Amino acid sequence: MAYDLVIQGATVVTASDTFVADVAVKDGRIAAVGSVDARQAKTLDARGKILIPGGIDVHTHFDMPFMGATTADDFTSGSTSAVFGGTTSVIDFAIQKKGEELRQALDLWHEKAEGKSAVDYGFHMIVTDMPEKKIKAMDDMIKEGVASFKLFMAYPGIFMSDDATIFRALMRTKENGGMVCMHAENGGVIDVLVQKALAAGQIEPKYHALTRPMSAEAEATRRAIALADMAGVPIYFVHLSAGDAMDEVRRARERGQAVFAETCPQYLYLSYEDYERPGFEGAKFVMSPPLRPKGNEERLWKGLVRNDLQVVSTDHCSFCMKATPTKPGKELGKKDFSKIPNGAPGVETRMMLMWDAVQKGKLTANRFVDITATTPAKLFGLYPRKGAIMPGADADLVLIDPNKKTTFSAKTHHAKVDYNPYEGKTVSGAIAEVFVRGRHMVSGDKFVGKLAGEFQRRAPRSFN
Ligand SMILES: [Zn+2]
Repeated sequence: MAYDLVIQGATVVTASDTFVADVAVKDGRIAAVGSVDARQAKTLDARGKILIPGGIDVHTHFDMPFMGATTADDFTSGSTSAVFGGTTSVIDFAIQKKGEELRQALDLWHEKAEGKSAVDYGFHMIVTDMPEKKIKAMDDMIKEGVASFKLFMAYPGIFMSDDATIFRALMRTKENGGMVCMHAENGGVIDVLVQKALAAGQIEPKYHALTRPMSAEAEATRRAIALADMAGVPIYFVHLSAGDAMDEVRRARERGQAVFAETCPQYLYLSYEDYERPGFEGAKFVMSPPLRPKGNEERLWKGLVRNDLQVVSTDHCSFCMKATPTKPGKELGKKDFSKIPNGAPGVETRMMLMWDAVQKGKLTANRFVDITATTPAKLFGLYPRKGAIMPGADADLVLIDPNKKTTFSAKTHHAKVDYNPYEGKTVSGAIAEVFVRGRHMVSGDKFVGKLAGEFQRRAPRSFN
């Protein structure tokens, strides 16, 4: 067979194995792994480089309106940023506004993404309005390949659902095979603390963190675990930040409950101290849940090793610090921390930050692939099409040059946001080449592809 491309002699790293092999690509898929006859094929000498399945970031917000602002990144800049960082698929969040049908929200997000993405993409559906009479609309989403739903226990009046709504949605996923993704923070308690802080004149960015205690996350996590247990369904926690919340997840898993959680690099690499940077700079790190006190990150690293946490995603939700002519920035909250749009960029830095952890001995290379690609694909209905290097899988492939270094900076990143949370940080390794379904997208610091990312219909859950 004449292959389209043969990547020769790379050190292939999967979630389970490490071996030297050639990987052949034909019609956008992996056609062979092993010792491959490369005659008539285009070849790429990858000796000394690491070949991994393309990163899968199951938590991004591109082109999202929130808190009076809109994210700096749309699908084009967000996905370009992703692919430069070695991520070849994202799952973004479509948002049902109150009173709106899920269908309308899905149509809108298709419109935002279609023809504008460098990487393949899927959607979770954010559910904000789900009375019993509308609940069948969730089944329709599953048929559309949107196999997961995000609910909020935070942001009262905007996104927050009460326990009855959450419980109804969980029960429905028993019927339709969907997965509920939960933002677990006790929104009511946080609101009281925020009002109290503001009344006392506490307006600086650090009060964002001081009004969102770890206990608010741990309590909501525990409550959601109980609701999922009563409904008899699995549950997935997004952006878990607090060691105390992780302990709730671990205890539930030890009891045999199907509970899963992701954390994000910001909770592993940054901390509360970043809010105390001079002036308004702390606003760069205003996100929910907030960064936690130093020491918490070590608990999360251990949780990743022990499989208390299964996924590392980014919650990429970029707002500029300074307003542009068309978009207000984080400055909206200069006199009131509660008005700072919540979120930070991360889709471009995730893979290399986690690869650096491999070099530092915090994770094995196989575990790195597992938490950044393979398990995300398995939990969200993309496996084995994605998240694997095996014949038949999509040729979403990333080559890492382990001998180079990467320095993160807003001057060189590809997101449209005017800061980088890791400004000046240097990590070992660099993304050398990126392929999405066999199409060459990135070569070193050059974009060589096109915006041909496709919507990925995801399969409903195959586990209980
Ligand atoms: Zn998010």
